[in-house]
Amino acid sequence: MIVADFAFKYCLSIRFNMHHGKLLSILRSIFNCPTAPFHEYHVRDHLLELLADFPHVSVEQDGFGNLIALYRRGSGKARWAFGAHMDHPGWVKNPAGKDLPKGGLDARFPEMQFLGGVPASYLPTGEVKNFGEFAMWDLPAFEYDREEDRISGRVCDDLVGCAAIIALFYELEQRQVMGSCYGIFTRAEEVGFVGAVDLAKSGKFPQGACFVSLETSSPRGGVEMGKGPVVRVGDRMSVFDDEATAQLLAAAEASRLEVQRALLDGGACEATAMKLYGIRSAGISVLLGNYHNCDPSGKIDSEYVRLKDVKVMIDLIANLVQFAEVQQENEDGGESDRLKLEKRWKDYAPYVQATAGKFGDEGEK
Ligand SMILES: [Zn+2]
Repeated sequence: MIVADFAFKYCLSIRFNMHHGKLLSILRSIFNCPTAPFHEYHVRDHLLELLADFPHVSVEQDGFGNLIALYRRGSGKARWAFGAHMDHPGWVKNPAGKDLPKGGLDARFPEMQFLGGVPASYLPTGEVKNFGEFAMWDLPAFEYDREEDRISGRVCDDLVGCAAIIALFYELEQRQVMGSCYGIFTRAEEVGFVGAVDLAKSGKFPQGACFVSLETSSPRGGVEMGKGPVVRVGDRMSVFDDEATAQLLAAAEASRLEVQRALLDGGACEATAMKLYGIRSAGISVLLGNYHNCDPSGKIDSEYVRLKDVKVMIDLIANLVQFAEVQQENEDGGESDRLKLEKRWKDYAPYVQATAGKFGDEGEK
């Protein structure tokens, strides 16, 4: 899909290598915001504050409260829409008189219901911190272990994705990148992509852009934490756009970024939801420890990721935006891959000839 020349142009690119301290401060400030499904307002307000600092970013909101941010410098059309969700499994006040979808209930909080994918056996093992309309696990909001290169806290999924989009915009502004891309922040993913579905149905999703879910996910299929983010070929429910996935991998290869490739089918993500509404979708995941705060011993604990994996994800999406136009010029609808296969087909012609006698000839039958 991408000709060799494209790889060459990419090699000339500047590596972004975001300032370590700046990235930590973005992560810390977002991790400090409490959140739960349908109660994403603290995260959202803080994101709006951060987005207001970027001179080339405009923000639109849909009727549901999802945020659609656009970085634009120059006249190019945005090809990529990077998406992350602002919620995380947690306790929420049960709206009086409403029959809610089933969720974990706990005798300690008769008025609250647990929303999100956490096995019921884990729920009594965690201390809880109340935020009025909702409650979270009483775990540190943000911790950084330099030696282990590890970020941990009560929510990595998906505040890491939200922070990656803010870091992307920061980098694009710093480098004065001519280009354009969307950052999409959604609500209520953990209960079944409610925000994403609303956005897809609203018609507000940017036409022609490919949605790229930026997630945190459990390792699956041989991938390992610390070996780079995972270009996710699919999730538990579907496989993603072949061409977009190939472009992500080609961009990583050309920029010499260490990424992994896998079907992460431990859960489903918003790429599947968008896809079901006819939007081209792909996914990149940072591998996550203690998914949904469930540690291997059966107790509630902090989630964690490797900072290096987060940095490479930001590098990869920044390169995608910077070289979106080069990429478009060089897309050839699979022609270069086809040529590679045909070369091999010709190279092996003597072997075909040497064994032809063993297979007979259609015409002589
Ligand atoms: Zn998530």
